[in-house]
Amino acid sequence: MRFLCVSLIFVSLAARAGAVAVTKDEWGHRPGPRGFTTVMIDAGHGGKDSGAVSATTGQREKDAALDVARRVAAKLGRDFRVKLLRGSDQFIDLDDRVNIATAGADVLVSIHFNSGPSSLVGPETFYWRVDSHGLAVRLQEALRAAVPRPHNSRGLVRRRIRLTRNPDIPCVLVECGYLSNATEARRIAEPAYRDRLAGAIAEALRRQAARGDEGTGPLPPPLNQPPSRPTDARE
Ligand SMILES: [Zn+2]
Repeated sequence: MRFLCVSLIFVSLAARAGAVAVTKDEWGHRPGPRGFTTVMIDAGHGGKDSGAVSATTGQREKDAALDVARRVAAKLGRDFRVKLLRGSDQFIDLDDRVNIATAGADVLVSIHFNSGPSSLVGPETFYWRVDSHGLAVRLQEALRAAVPRPHNSRGLVRRRIRLTRNPDIPCVLVECGYLSNATEARRIAEPAYRDRLAGAIAEALRRQAARGDEGTGPLPPPLNQPPSRPTDARE
């Protein structure tokens, strides 16, 4: 039995050292993907679930997220196979989103806008799996560069939620800014600003596909935790 385990580890390392293969993996305890071609873009919320609503502009998170998702798809369209998890104002359960992404893509990026105390500003990126760290670093860095200073980054958060733990593919959730902050909400209401956000997300995906985790720092430790359930944490 011991010999078998060692053999399996060797085979797995040999496969990793060779040509890049993007495969499904339940735990994600591996380096981030490189050379992937199929990207799933998830616009958060939808249908009966509006997500956050700005008290300043009245804009709904589900609409802003879908707009940014469409823009990302348009920017990546020529070089990647891009799928929109929802292409309209439609409610899809989080567990269904997980299954759709796992079945149909190499990586998943879920797009959201944030809500909280009115003083909070700036993009924030959530990941859980080791194989999602590099892409998360790239997404947060690209968003930080696209958003006006000084409130241009709330950083990277390792959190186990359904869309960061449950898909069997690298998966990252970006909160592109706070609809609950008046200044940021006014920016998010502008199409040109949403286009910049989309450009940042697309650029991060391009960099990850071209370079893998190169330059994104050390990988975080693997954490063995069961899939996230609706009752686990705020989503
Ligand atoms: Zn949201």
